[in-house]
Amino acid sequence: MADRVLPFKKDRDTGGFFAAADRHELVYRACNDCGASINPPHARCAACGSWNTGWKQASGKGRLFTWSVVEQQIHPAFPTPYTIVVVALEDDPSVRYVGYLDGAHDLKADMAMRVRFEPTEDGGALPQWIPDNAR
Ligand SMILES: [Zn+2]
Repeated sequence: MADRVLPFKKDRDTGGFFAAADRHELVYRACNDCGASINPPHARCAACGSWNTGWKQASGKGRLFTWSVVEQQIHPAFPTPYTIVVVALEDDPSVRYVGYLDGAHDLKADMAMRVRFEPTEDGGALPQWIPDNAR
């Protein structure tokens, strides 16, 4: 299998997300002043203008917002079929994360999903999502 692209982990806005993922923790960015969730993550809060933002621990649970099954081979690192899922976090459904799910599955909108951490070739991990009833 071809190598997958690794995340750039030294970004001011998103680096904390990938650092947490390497520790098998799921986080999302939030404002320490007004409490707004900030997604996609930025160092500055768009709601109140504060730079006092940080990472909040997420439960690792969510609801399936939407998905797409890819059946045409596009890149050798992603054998088909596979499913791209968009999951709304249980902690704040306005925060939605995209994930890769190997294969085609019998999915339903709003079904319970949970995070799993996929090892990466650099010794880290990336959060991905599976149906909560999966083993
Ligand atoms: Zn704010």
